[in-house]
Amino acid sequence: MRLAVVGAGSIGLAIAWRAANLGARVTVHDPAPGSGASRVAAGILAAATEAQFGEEALLPFMAESVDAWPGFAAELEAASGVPVAHRDTATLMVGLGEGDRAEIDRLAALYRTTGRTVDTLAPRRARELEPLLTHRVRGGVLVPGDHAVEPRAVHAALLAAAERAGVEFRAAHVEDPAALDADQVVLAAGCGSAAFGLPVRPVRGAVLRLRASAVQPRPAGTVRGHVHGHAIYIVPRDDGEIVVGATVDERGFDRTTGTAGAAHDLLRWSIDLVPEIAEYHLDEITVGFRPTAPDNLPLIGRVDDRTIAATGHYRHGIALTPATADRVAALALGDADAIPAAFDPLRFEEGS
Ligand SMILES: Cc1cc2nc3c(=O)[nH]c(=O)nc-3n(C[C@H](O)[C@H](O)[C@H](O)COP(=O)(O)OP(=O)(O)OC[C@H]3O[C@@H](n4cnc5c(N)ncnc54)[C@H](O)[C@@H]3O)c2cc1C
Repeated sequence: MRLAVVGAGSIGLAIAWRAANLGARVTVHDPAPGSGASRVAAGILAAATEAQFGEEALLPFMAESVDAWPGFAAELEAASGVPVAHRDTATLMVGLGEGDRAEIDRLAALYRTTGRTVDTLAPRRARELEPLLTHRVRGGVLVPGDHAVEPRAVHAALLAAAERAGVEFRAAHVEDPAALDADQVVLAAGCGSAAFGLPVRPVRGAVLRLRASAVQPRPAGTVRGHVHGHAIYIVPRDDGEIVVGATVDERGFDRTTGTAGAAHDLLRWSIDLVPEIAEYHLDEITVGFRPTAPDNLPLIGRVDDRTIAATGHYRHGIALTPATADRVAALALGDADAIPAAFDPLRFEEGS
């Protein structure tokens, strides 16, 4: 079976790697592998604390994929020789104002519908767990069972693993997938998938990458904060990097305007929550575009007998990489029931 994959972000590469391991002859087409959202992402892998009201259909798939991550990371590291900085880290979610605390209580009710443990924390307990939190914190929740990875390392590892599995690469922009010489075609071009008629739009996001010196104290694990109505996260890595994110706005593919305001907001809110952040070195601000469907759910499944969509992963593309790769590789190789119906890429078409 000859499989063509359009797009070499994390989604396309993971599908290519999985399908090659299942015996397909795979070619990946991308003029600039890794130029999309996959190397911008923070790397939070959260089954509960990423849940949003109205997106409940995603939750079982998120749980499946997040729970698959530890095994996927180990397999990927072994296949590529590239460490991906996978970390088991409970998520500590805290609020600064009374309204923030109420919002966390509202969200906690949704998180509990996933069946995962969600422990309510008094302010003192939250600060015992994370001593770098401001003393003004009003409490929150602790959600064990989440993970984090370094998405740039994951992308490098997927490239190496796919190459070692025999995947071929063509540095070319695909204009017409129907013209590709293959039995099956997977469209995994992130926001670029809109050019193939898929209903994705770019939802812009900026993240900051900061660095703590070896002697500076750092948060122990992922901290999510609600700071006077604004949601932020802080993701520390073992090598001293700290990612602070993320803005969410709709400005098409504009990479330039508003980045000063984004940096200002992210620094202000994160320093309000963890004052030590003001002491770190600011390495970079990066802007990326989340491929997003009208209902914020992924677009995964058959478009026609020869073409499969694998995009629209919005804020969750790194978390959803393992489950998407396994299920899309299975679909391409003949398992017609591999994908949940809620993700049907044709669901927005008239009469569907
Ligand atoms: C600020 C920010 C923070 C995020 N944080 C997280 C997080 O913590 N956890 C998480 O799970 N997710 C996170 N995400 C979401 C995640 O990054 C995306 O959902 C995911 O990277 C999408 O991967 P992809 O492979 O579909 O697309 P992309 O990574 O965008 O890759 C698409 C690729 O397709 C190629 N391409 C486009 N058009 C064509 C064409 N016509 N022909 C050939 N190639 C083409 C591009 O060159 C690109 O390489 C974040 C996103 C942003 C922006």
